Amino acid sequence: MLVDIVTIFPGFFASPLATGLLGKAGERGLVEVRLHDLRDWATDRHRSVDDAPFGGGAGMVMVPGPWFDALDELEAQGPARVVLLAPDGRRFDHKVAQRLAAEPRLILCCGRYEGIDERVRTRVDEVLSIGDFVLAGGETAALVVLEAVARLVPGVMGNADSVTDESFAAGLLEYPQYTRPAVYRGLEVPAVLRSGDHGAVARWRRDQALDRTRRLRPDLLEQAEEDADGPQAPG
Ligand code: SAM
Repeated sequence: MLVDIVTIFPGFFASPLATGLLGKAGERGLVEVRLHDLRDWATDRHRSVDDAPFGGGAGMVMVPGPWFDALDELEAQGPARVVLLAPDGRRFDHKVAQRLAAEPRLILCCGRYEGIDERVRTRVDEVLSIGDFVLAGGETAALVVLEAVARLVPGVMGNADSVTDESFAAGLLEYPQYTRPAVYRGLEVPAVLRSGDHGAVARWRRDQALDRTRRLRPDLLEQAEEDADGPQAPG
């Protein structure tokens, strides 16, 4: 997968891209990330990318010119799904991450200031939000999207089961995890996990996942039911 990130702070991504899973995915050529400084498409000698909002009000707005030119140039290099990060976008979740992981190329657009001139939206395929709060810029949101998507790109996770067993993958939260020691400060690991009975372990994990989801995220179960009851293909 190829991911182009357009930002005024390319340096923001240096450490995360060199660290852990994203670092390895890059080294192995599974997820190549190219960083682009939006100011490279500015046309004045100050490399400005913002201006005062029409109608007045606080703050500055990113001007359309550099964004249109950046997208012209990047899209001319080949097909890509263009994603704008913004608080009013569709909420990013596991399903969206799965869908994006199947794309060969993404272009992630990071806003700053009060946001980007509305007309730039005519050039994007979708707008994504990582939650109902306002960040200082789209870089953190792009990183969240990138990391969640990269884990789902085939080959990135050493053990494919890690991805299918995890929270949200099957519409449930994950079961509780334990490691050594078997007893720590009087807290014991459930006996079934040490029993060596794989069937019993699988049943216990399934029950725990269901119970935890029921208690903490009943909405996930409701959604799973709705999905199952959804429109059926004509027979
Ligand atoms: N004035 C905007 C508003 O009220 O919706 C907020 C702009 S915010 C300070 C600057 C940039 O951060 C946005 O253009 C967007 O790219 C990014 N951003 C902020 N919060 C975000 C969120 N929850 N999800 C995705 N991107 C976000």
